[in-house]
Amino acid sequence: MANDIALDELMELWRSFFQDSRNRPVDKFGKSYSAPKCSTCKGEGKIEIPEKGKLDENEPSEKVCPNCKGERVDSSNIPTYSDEIQKVAREYPDGERAIRVTWESVSDFNARLSNNLRWNLDEALEAAKNIVQEFIDDKTKKRVRKEHRTKIGLDVVPMGIPGELYDVEISGLRKEHLYRTVRLKGLVRKATPVRPRMEIGLFECEWESHRNSYIQDFFTFEKPIRCTAETCKCTEFKLRDDLSQFIDSQKIEIQEYPEDLPPGAQPERLTAYFESSLAHKIQPGDRVAIIGIIKPKSQFQGRRQKSEFDIYLYAHSIDEKIGENESVIPTANELIEIKELSIQEDIAEKIRDSIAPTIFGMN
Ligand SMILES: [Zn+2]
Ligand SMILES: [Zn+2]
Repeated sequence: MANDIALDELMELWRSFFQDSRNRPVDKFGKSYSAPKCSTCKGEGKIEIPEKGKLDENEPSEKVCPNCKGERVDSSNIPTYSDEIQKVAREYPDGERAIRVTWESVSDFNARLSNNLRWNLDEALEAAKNIVQEFIDDKTKKRVRKEHRTKIGLDVVPMGIPGELYDVEISGLRKEHLYRTVRLKGLVRKATPVRPRMEIGLFECEWESHRNSYIQDFFTFEKPIRCTAETCKCTEFKLRDDLSQFIDSQKIEIQEYPEDLPPGAQPERLTAYFESSLAHKIQPGDRVAIIGIIKPKSQFQGRRQKSEFDIYLYAHSIDEKIGENESVIPTANELIEIKELSIQEDIAEKIRDSIAPTIFGMN
C-alpha cells in the first residue's frame, strides 16, 4: 500500500491536534468529559449580592455569576489532551494506558490526518503514540522506569471511524484487504492468557558485551546478524531478556455470527491479536466489532515456507462489545421451557442439534 506521507509530517499533525485546546479527550464511550461545577457560584449560575454591597434597596439581591457567566460550569477546566495524557501516564502501569481520539474531532481538525486514520491506520497511530510521549513529563517517566523497570507505553485508540467503507465479514476477506483497516463483527470463541511478547530484544555480543537492540518480528524471535559497535565484527549474541522491551499480547479467535449465515454454512473464524491496553478487554462469548489491520502470516511445511499465506487481524480498537451475560438473561417463559426440556432424556442431543446442526457424525 502506498504511503504518501512521511512519519514526521504525521507527527507534526498530531502534535498540533493534541495542543489545540478545541480538541478535548473523551471517555471510553466516546463522550467528552463534562466541565466541573463552577467554583465561584457552586454550580448555581448566580451569586447573591450581600445586603451591604447594594447601592440602593431596589437592586436585585442576585446577579449572574461573573466566573461562568451563568453557565454553571467552569468550561476552562475541562481536561485538555495534555492533562489527560499526564493523568493516564501517572497511573501507569495501572489504569487505562490509552488515549482516545474521536473520528469526528480528527476530521474536523484536519482532513489529511483523518484520511490517514482511515487508510493508513498503522502509521497514523504509530505517529500519534510518539507524540503522546512528548506530553509526559520527565519526572513521571523516571519514576515509572525506576519503580517498574519499563517505559510508559500509551496507546492511541481511535473511536467512531465511519464503518460503511470497510465493514467486512470474516468470510468476505480477500487479498484486497491485506494491510487495510477493516471493521469486523464476530463472536469471541477463544482467548489465550495475556503473555509478554518481545518487541525489542536487547543482545550482548559474545566478544565484548556490546549492547545491540533488535526489533523483533511479530511471530519469530530474531537475533542481530553482526555487532553494531565500531570495529567489532562479532556475530554471536547472548539475549538479555531482563533488559529487553516486552508488550502484553493476547491471541483471540473470533467467529462470524452463526445466525447471519445461510442455513448449512459453517461460520468462518479468524485469529486476532490484542496487545497493550487492548489485552484482556474481551472474553469468550462476547460479541464484538473490532477495528484493526489485516496482515499476512507466513506458513511453513516443515522448514520450507509456503507460498500460501494465512491472515490475521491486528486489533487497534474495540468498537462495540456486547457481553454474553447481557444477552442471555432468560425470560420467565424461557425459564419454564428450560425446565420442561431439562426433564426430557434426550436433552443432550437436542442441544447439540440446535447449536451445531451442520456437524454430522459427531454423536
Ligand atoms: Zn459560576
Ligand atoms: Zn561487539
